[in-house]
Amino acid sequence: MPTRPIRTRFAPSPTGLLHVGGARTALFNWLYARKHAGTFVLRVEDTDHSRNTEEAKQIIIDGLHWLGLEWDEGPQKGGSYGPYYQSERHSIYEEYLKRLEKGGHLYEEKGAIRFRSPREKVIVEDLICGKIEFDLTNPGTHPDMTLRRPDGSWIFHFVNVVDDIEMQISHVIRGEDHLSNTPKHLELYKALGTEPPLFAHTPLILNRDGSKMSKRDLGANLGTYPQEGYVPEAVRNYLSLLGWSPKDNREILDTAEVIQLFELHNINRRSAAFDVDKCFWMNGQYLLHMDLARYTELALPFLEKAGITWESWEMLERVLSIVKPKIKSLPDLPDWVRCFFSDDFPYDEAAVAKNLSHPDAKNRLEALAEALLLLNPWEATPIEARLKETASRLGVKAGELVHPARVAVSGRSVGAGLYEMFEILGREKTIKRLLAGTH
Ligand code: GLU
Repeated sequence: MPTRPIRTRFAPSPTGLLHVGGARTALFNWLYARKHAGTFVLRVEDTDHSRNTEEAKQIIIDGLHWLGLEWDEGPQKGGSYGPYYQSERHSIYEEYLKRLEKGGHLYEEKGAIRFRSPREKVIVEDLICGKIEFDLTNPGTHPDMTLRRPDGSWIFHFVNVVDDIEMQISHVIRGEDHLSNTPKHLELYKALGTEPPLFAHTPLILNRDGSKMSKRDLGANLGTYPQEGYVPEAVRNYLSLLGWSPKDNREILDTAEVIQLFELHNINRRSAAFDVDKCFWMNGQYLLHMDLARYTELALPFLEKAGITWESWEMLERVLSIVKPKIKSLPDLPDWVRCFFSDDFPYDEAAVAKNLSHPDAKNRLEALAEALLLLNPWEATPIEARLKETASRLGVKAGELVHPARVAVSGRSVGAGLYEMFEILGREKTIKRLLAGTH
């Protein structure tokens, strides 16, 4: 077979959300195109007018942009094989219908246009599922397919095949739920006298309990990921491992590496389970190891939404650098950092009750404040030494000073390293809050 240029496509129907399974299909198509220096096409299958809203289309576009799966041809980009919305390709479908009609493949029935099946056994050679024979000889179980409804609207099978031909798609990578459609599609390719693309049907994504993932299941809707604090590079990594693996048990793989290692024949035939905890963990790993500039960029919308403002970028980066190793999720960020940017932060009642209610708490914090008054330089290491000296002078464990001090300066019992917090807050604020801490 002569090798064709690699052209893959993601062909979503706008349903109102980008399902994580769809996102994974898009990712696999994108990975394959990138690996082979091919072209990744976005084609919107919007023939169902009742669902075909601007908003539903935008959700797909936004989701793919967010995930970083830029397409080479498609909406917003254009390309030589457009338009890339099926709703705008009516005349192309008419032409193909004529071709089929000329070949004697069509008949009309109650206003619908139907394709006369050649009634054969059709072999699908799938790059993932292997060779599968479908017996289409029995019209009872495999009725002739409709291509066009009496109202003039097109049926998925026909326009899907026409577009894959017209857009010169070399590889159709899609969910296994379409495997049973493929023999019908092959009938159409044959009737049109066209070499079909290669097919790769990916296993479905299930919930952890093995049930089918519906749009309401946790993690199913990609649109909620940004506000939940997921970062696209981590989600790309996680989704790439849903059904595919590099065969060496590694899990943290950046996108460049996945592109390099990705092979369709390494896609597992078994369904993959979507594990929200694992996705969350992986996201945390990415947050932990990412550089501060990227972390800051991702943090900004969460801080802005919480009304947090900062005087200087340098201060912002210093604060983020000390919370970054501790925090697992970006939505937690505002609560962790508010105390650095404002004196008006809430005191956690339970933390106050636990750490500041001791009869000696006030004296201890005063002693610490006094010990820090003339400390020079004002840096984490000498601050730590001074706190420990003070604790031993008072005859208490360091923790008996650390915990109340933390609540006094931040209102919370968990947070960044205490000494770094003091350093960044500065002497004046630290001492003021230590002295006010028992209110
Ligand atoms: N519009 C179809 C779907 O969203 C596309 C199937 C395909 O990729 O061929 O399921």
